[in-house]
Amino acid sequence: MLPITTDPFAVDGDHLKEECGVFGIVGDGDAAAHTALGLHALQHRGQEAAGIVSYDGTQFHSHRGMGHVSENFDSDTVERLKGHMAVGHTRYATTGDVILRNVQPLFAEYEFGGFAVAHNGNLTNALTLRRELQKRGCLFQSTSDTEVVTHLIALSEASTVEERLIDALRQIEGAYSFVCLTNNAVFGVRDPLGVRPLVLGKSGNAHILCSETCALDIIGAEFVRDIEPGELIILSHDGSVRSLHPFPRQNARFCIFEYIYFARPDSNMEGHSVYEVRKRIGAQLAIESPVDCDVVVPVPDSGVPAALGFAAEAHKPFEYGIIRNHYVGRTFIQPTDKTRHLGVKRKHNPNRGVLEGKRVVLVDDSIVRGTTSTKIVEMVRQAGAVEVHMRISSPPTAHPCFFGIDTPSYDKLLAAQHDVAGMAKLLGVDSLAFISLDGLYKAVGEARRDAGKPQFCDACFTGDYPLPLTDQKAGSQPKQLSLLNEERA
Ligand code: SF4
Repeated sequence: MLPITTDPFAVDGDHLKEECGVFGIVGDGDAAAHTALGLHALQHRGQEAAGIVSYDGTQFHSHRGMGHVSENFDSDTVERLKGHMAVGHTRYATTGDVILRNVQPLFAEYEFGGFAVAHNGNLTNALTLRRELQKRGCLFQSTSDTEVVTHLIALSEASTVEERLIDALRQIEGAYSFVCLTNNAVFGVRDPLGVRPLVLGKSGNAHILCSETCALDIIGAEFVRDIEPGELIILSHDGSVRSLHPFPRQNARFCIFEYIYFARPDSNMEGHSVYEVRKRIGAQLAIESPVDCDVVVPVPDSGVPAALGFAAEAHKPFEYGIIRNHYVGRTFIQPTDKTRHLGVKRKHNPNRGVLEGKRVVLVDDSIVRGTTSTKIVEMVRQAGAVEVHMRISSPPTAHPCFFGIDTPSYDKLLAAQHDVAGMAKLLGVDSLAFISLDGLYKAVGEARRDAGKPQFCDACFTGDYPLPLTDQKAGSQPKQLSLLNEERA
């Protein structure tokens, strides 16, 4: 019998990994159930673990577990999470090990009451702060960057919980959207540049905070607005809503990759439909890098909207030339030398009738390591395509992200190692083109990138990091965080 693994064939290793999804709700008799549904809609943002903490007016209730939301929250579990307020988290670990003690929401007990925190993003000075806090006597329970916030709150001498939180926020650097649960309220906060998303919604008397609007849709809530960069919003149990701006205003730098790949296409972000932006990127690609072809084929599923835009602009047929198997589980048989080459077919299969004898344009959202793209090109050729061209709806990903997206280091990023001609050769395509940076900005409604004051974070394309990389510059090693050898999930 073949052994079981959690990383079968590693055919997904060629995509950036989404960060995390957060959800918070106040004033709702089904707070935990709606939080579980919201997290389910945010599942694409993290599949390693999920957790919910609720508060019933007397006690906090918590359930956290490894795996998908649906694996962790059945009716009985949700029933036990009592109360009218809850926060939840679905996690892909960008910092800290994949162990239960890192699964969020993290919970702390202070003399003023309980505090649960769920974080989307990555703190870029967490390791530096952690060392200072350890010297001051703080005992860390997890290896997550988020835990520094709970210790900074504990050490603050401010009198109210919101002042303590602001104190903590003023010491951290990096990208973050937090939702926090206290005895009286749910807090939401976005970092001063607004790198990661957070939106406000409403349903009857309930107020909701979540990473994307698709999590509002699933519970029938209406979208109210995006939380502003640097805004701290306090949703009280009595129904009041307060908005504070504890930081000096700065130019926003929202993550432009949310539009390209991370967010769900049915979400709206910062006033734009993600789906429409992706179609516009595809159309712009067709204008910038036209190619004589017979058929436009998306690499499913993330390449679909851009391929639709490309095909419409190029007046070429859009066809599903690659079919994706949606039933690939998290665990599967271990590849052997004989079966390893079949890995890509486990998830993608060529639709021979569409590809045979055709000049094909493949449209994908990004190339990270290039491993999956190479296999897909080979598969399309084997299915009879006479030419294979590739068009990518992002500029070359040539730099790692330190703001909550798991990217490989420079030596593993194809675009950091090769120019476009070199990449085309390695991928085995007849031509390769990426959307230009200005073309991408155009698709999100800007005239062009303002080099002096860029409107978005685009550091993984440009290397222009909008936030200090304190830990990185100090040479801190996240892997040395814990002395405890804990069984990994
Ligand atoms: S570096 Fe790239 S992925 Fe990371 S926040 Fe900036 S744009 Fe987004």
